[in-house]
Amino acid sequence: MKVLIVEDEKKISDFVTKGLKEHGFTVDLAENGDDGYYLATSQSYDAIVLDIMLPGRDGLSILKALRAKGNNVPVIAATARGELDERLEGLNLGADDYLTKPFYIDELVARLQALHRRTTGSQLNVRQVEHLVLNLATREVKRGERDIELTSREFNLLEYLMRSPGRVYTRTQILEHVWGYDFDPNTNIVDVCLQRLRKKIDQADEDKLLETVRGVGYRMKKV
Ligand code: CA
Repeated sequence: MKVLIVEDEKKISDFVTKGLKEHGFTVDLAENGDDGYYLATSQSYDAIVLDIMLPGRDGLSILKALRAKGNNVPVIAATARGELDERLEGLNLGADDYLTKPFYIDELVARLQALHRRTTGSQLNVRQVEHLVLNLATREVKRGERDIELTSREFNLLEYLMRSPGRVYTRTQILEHVWGYDFDPNTNIVDVCLQRLRKKIDQADEDKLLETVRGVGYRMKKV
């Protein structure tokens, strides 16, 4: 899952960024409202954790503008204790959930996973293509009876491709989603990681599930 954090307090943004990365999320950070709005409208995210009181554009104005543009990205509003009016207004403006600061990282992770399940419509934490099964809750991957050990990055890459079997993802989309927007687009890390992933997923005697679409990108086989 790729998440945008909009938060101006460094202590909180450090804690959230580190905590979410440890749980396998891809994280972009904006430290003021203007950068937050820019990233929210120029990149695609699975969720945004949005502080309300921000320098520059405030969180409620960002939320209102996103919804006015028809952008339905799930938003968790982060409010300080006592900001009840802001919280209510946030929910009115289309926030999907809110968290009162300070919060535990496990609480945020649980809320993000719940939102993700709701928006992807999957009741189970599982994605499956043929006998390849990826479990989002336990972060385990199996092909038939075979356990597949993946790094966090490989897991996120596979999870992204398995969202829509048959859909082609370009290198740029993959790079932005799995590594974050500030990676150099000229690197070949996507191809390198994909080759490693392919070796683990598709063994010699098995159907090839991870397909290269020459000159375009990669996709999971549609079954
Ligand atoms: Ca703030």
